[in-house]
Amino acid sequence: GLAKPIGLVEGPGGLGQGGLATTLQDDSREAEGKFEEYGYNAQLSDRISLDRTIPDYRPKKCRQMTYSPDLPQVSVVFIFVNEALSVILRSVHSVINHTPSQLLKEVILVDDNSDNVELKLNLDQYVNKRYPGLVKIVRNSRREGLIRARLQGWKVATAPVVGFFDAHVEFNTGWAEPALTRIQEDHRRIVLPAIDNIKYSTFEVQQYANAAHGYTWGLWCMYIIPPQDWLDHGDESAPIRTPAMIGCSFVVDREYFGDIGLLDPGMEVYGGENIELGMRVWQCGGSMEVLPCSRVAHIERTKKPYNNDIDYYAKRNALRAAEVWMDDFKSHVYMAWNIPMTNPGVDFGDVSERLALRQRLKCRSFRWYLENVYPEMRIYNDTLTYGEVRNSKASGYCLDQGAEDDDRAILYPCHGMSSQLVRYSADGLLQLGPLGSTAFLPDSKCLVDDGRGRTPTLKKCEDVARPTQRLWNFTQSGPIVSRDTGRCLEVEMSKDANFGLRLVVQRCSGQKWMIRNWIK
Ligand code: UDP
Ligand code: MN
Repeated sequence: GLAKPIGLVEGPGGLGQGGLATTLQDDSREAEGKFEEYGYNAQLSDRISLDRTIPDYRPKKCRQMTYSPDLPQVSVVFIFVNEALSVILRSVHSVINHTPSQLLKEVILVDDNSDNVELKLNLDQYVNKRYPGLVKIVRNSRREGLIRARLQGWKVATAPVVGFFDAHVEFNTGWAEPALTRIQEDHRRIVLPAIDNIKYSTFEVQQYANAAHGYTWGLWCMYIIPPQDWLDHGDESAPIRTPAMIGCSFVVDREYFGDIGLLDPGMEVYGGENIELGMRVWQCGGSMEVLPCSRVAHIERTKKPYNNDIDYYAKRNALRAAEVWMDDFKSHVYMAWNIPMTNPGVDFGDVSERLALRQRLKCRSFRWYLENVYPEMRIYNDTLTYGEVRNSKASGYCLDQGAEDDDRAILYPCHGMSSQLVRYSADGLLQLGPLGSTAFLPDSKCLVDDGRGRTPTLKKCEDVARPTQRLWNFTQSGPIVSRDTGRCLEVEMSKDANFGLRLVVQRCSGQKWMIRNWIK
């Protein structure tokens, strides 16, 4: 979810052969209504050929590669809920048109209890007539969420390899052969076709830069720069080691996937399963890689046509992954979501079976995984306390990082989101704002008393001229005292400040501060 590209490569672009030469202008009510419903221009999709071929964005070298004549077959699983029919059908046509027929065992469509009637009989009739015997449809009688929907597909798959995809993707020529080759060589590899973007409004395909798939400590996925040794090697067609996956496209040996525990069936709706699989496969002796020669284009839609409380489920699922796989580092997930480690206010369900799985597979530690697979992660092990910080004189108000580009901490009504995440660490730093999580993102800033005015500032911790200026003494329900000046962080009532409250450093008058959470 919520992946941000690290860079775009604008290719020759266009809708591809068989597509439209120009973008259709249609501002009718109906078109807008469909856009609203699906998060993409469904009316335009209805008019684009189901058999179009997308531009070939593979690195040049891929086109010269040759493959063994006896690769394993693949079952391709698409899951959907309330998707535009033409978009699902284009996914099906695209995989059939761009996979050698002897390699494609079957296509499996999993309907995760859609409401839309055209996805019932119309879809059945269409695929049975157009592709008799090749397409299976599985219908969930209640909404299972994307995790168990993918598992429904796996259960009916019969080929030795299974590919899992969202039902709004299109396949590049030659996507299957390199993926199947890598899995034939080592069945413990989980292979991710590289992802390009189908623009939600024009359906043009936009090339994305070569990337691995990483995540923040909240376990939100994102594209990250490939490992240094891959960059140094200088071969764009080589597999890219990746700590986790975005999740809309992955290919795996069917039996191996079962052996290592599939996806966590206790996860609900959306999110976290893609990160959990990455941690698990690496910690338990397998690997995960992005294959630039195997490409799939995916629609990043503007909204999701299902449950709108995605954040809640992503948080819940993240806690399951944290509790099972992350050892002492699980605190980082609680910190990232700014919730307490005991009574987090989220019921993440029973993880005992997943813990037993970890035991059974004799998996390595999370520290091993971080050091060997995701060294770009920032570690916050020296944190003592974290969460919202309140002053007894200003009830209902919390320390807040304020405007991101500003260098000023403020007091703001408490809302508990990440701008009000304060961390106090063993070495005396007081940091404010969301965790930077990785070397790819700026880290939270340090609260500083530079001894000059009465205004405390927020600075990049490494930019503070005198290191002691960023150090504080802080005990629960006590003052916050600068180790450099001996002054206290305090609240001053002031008519011309926001909310009538100003944050100052001044001679200590005995004000008390409270921080919400401890590391367990
Ligand atoms: N999905 C599902 N059941 C759900 C939620 C999502 O089957 O309850 C499917 C959805 O149809 C899609 C896939 O899960 O094929 C991933 O969801 P989505 O495309 O909305 O996520 P994104 O790719 O935008 O992160
Ligand atoms: Mn998707």
